[in-house]
Amino acid sequence: MTYLSQNPANFSETVASFQLASVNDIVKAAEVASAAQREWAAVPAPARGRVLAQVGRLFEANKESLAALMTKEIGKTYAESLGEVQEVIDTCDFFLGEGRRLYGQTVPSEMPNKQLFTFRMPVGTTMIITAANFPAAVPSWYLVPALLTGNSIVWKPAETAGAVATAMANIFRAGGVPQGVLDVVIADGATTGAALNEVLERGLIQKVGFTGSTEVGRKIGELCGRHLQSPCLELGGKNPMIVMPDATIDLVVEGALFAGFGTAGQRCTSMGTLWVHEKIYDQVKNAWVSAVENAIIGDPTKAVLYGPMISEAYLNTHEKNLEMVQSNHKVLGSTGTGRITAKNPRNNFLGDPDKGYFAHPTIVEGIVKNDALYHTETFGPLVGLGKFSDLDEAIDLANAHGYGLSSAIYTNDPKNVWKFREQVSSGMVSINNSTSGAEAHLPFGGNGKSGNGSRQSGIWVLDQFTRWQSVNWDYSGRLQKAQMDIMELPYDPDFRL
Ligand code: NAD
Repeated sequence: MTYLSQNPANFSETVASFQLASVNDIVKAAEVASAAQREWAAVPAPARGRVLAQVGRLFEANKESLAALMTKEIGKTYAESLGEVQEVIDTCDFFLGEGRRLYGQTVPSEMPNKQLFTFRMPVGTTMIITAANFPAAVPSWYLVPALLTGNSIVWKPAETAGAVATAMANIFRAGGVPQGVLDVVIADGATTGAALNEVLERGLIQKVGFTGSTEVGRKIGELCGRHLQSPCLELGGKNPMIVMPDATIDLVVEGALFAGFGTAGQRCTSMGTLWVHEKIYDQVKNAWVSAVENAIIGDPTKAVLYGPMISEAYLNTHEKNLEMVQSNHKVLGSTGTGRITAKNPRNNFLGDPDKGYFAHPTIVEGIVKNDALYHTETFGPLVGLGKFSDLDEAIDLANAHGYGLSSAIYTNDPKNVWKFREQVSSGMVSINNSTSGAEAHLPFGGNGKSGNGSRQSGIWVLDQFTRWQSVNWDYSGRLQKAQMDIMELPYDPDFRL
């Protein structure tokens, strides 16, 4: 089947077309990757690190063209696309150095003339499945460390970001990654699920990395569990931002605008609900609503807050999510809701709305714990607004939906900061900063419905792509038995001063 990847800001423009892979194609790719893995693992780790440094330099040299392609294919603003490619470069930079570390340990033995060691071993062949919203940075968080540690990869990107994925793979190859070591297969979800079952069944894949929705993550977790594998699952979020009465309001407004509506709310770390203390509620609400109303939305090649939805399917889901708005809610933030068109216009729109899949920003005021909107990740420009009366209540609201990816608190009181940090259940916590915005060398990942506790980035992701091998070397010339042949030195148990 041929898939057409279209520009969501101008859907008459086809960005790329490609044949979607079948189950058989994916299985074949896994066979090739599996056959290539040992040879890649035999390349010394510092040399693999150099390859990734070369890859990083090529991403740097192609930064503008890859960012432009990303903007064209998924509608991310050009400024954010540039930032995303920079994150790939940062990841390559980090792992260049890791190639010269990958430390194991020497461990003292309880017996003489015996040495103990630990070595990090590659897991083998990995299957990486990624979402469209971060088509370069998030895949690089898997691909770069997996390659550095000597694994081979079959990468299944989102179909909607197939052109970016193809360009990325070409850069990795030009940087020196051998063909069979990294293969890209572009396939739909159902085909991928069926192929994953088969490659796990046949023992071709030893690790799965999945970034996407909680719903699909559950299925992948179940499938991997049946094969005694623990996948890396990076899933959805319902990220709260808490505003205490002593917060700096200008900072809150700037942070909430970017966290809620940047990338049209299509980030896993997008703010789900802005929770404001009742003492400053009206002040924060008025300033934030006005900022959202005045923000410029539209053509992603220009200086806009956000561009189109990633594709028509994401716009449709957003329109469906608007059905969760109830009579107890008030809708704010734009001159309409749903799709922006000439007939349903938005003030402060740049470009021709009828050419693309653009959506009005929507603030839903009056969110309470029983609402479907409290519990549901909306993954679009639909953000809740609610009130609380003390920090305990705010922390409960931040945790009770069961997602645990990112959270933020705005306050100038360290006591609030430390209490929130200790009691919030998210894997990532921001203080006086947006819920979104990762750095390439800090662990990234969530808890509860947001993931299975795996972490990407920095040294922490090494535990996803390596397994510890323990080695003991006995050169005593006899069989020494642990726990039985123990050297004990005498002492005087009755000694007192
Ligand atoms: P999705 O789960 O629908 O798709 C993600 C990927 O999985 C795609 O490549 C898709 O083709 C594939 N897929 C779909 N069904 C499958 C199946 N049965 N078996 C195997 N693969 C299958 O997610 P989406 O709508 O593309 O992306 C949005 C979601 O991703 C949101 O929930 C968002 O929060 C999440 N996300 C999380 C992170 C993170 O790091 N935590 C980052 C980005 C996006």
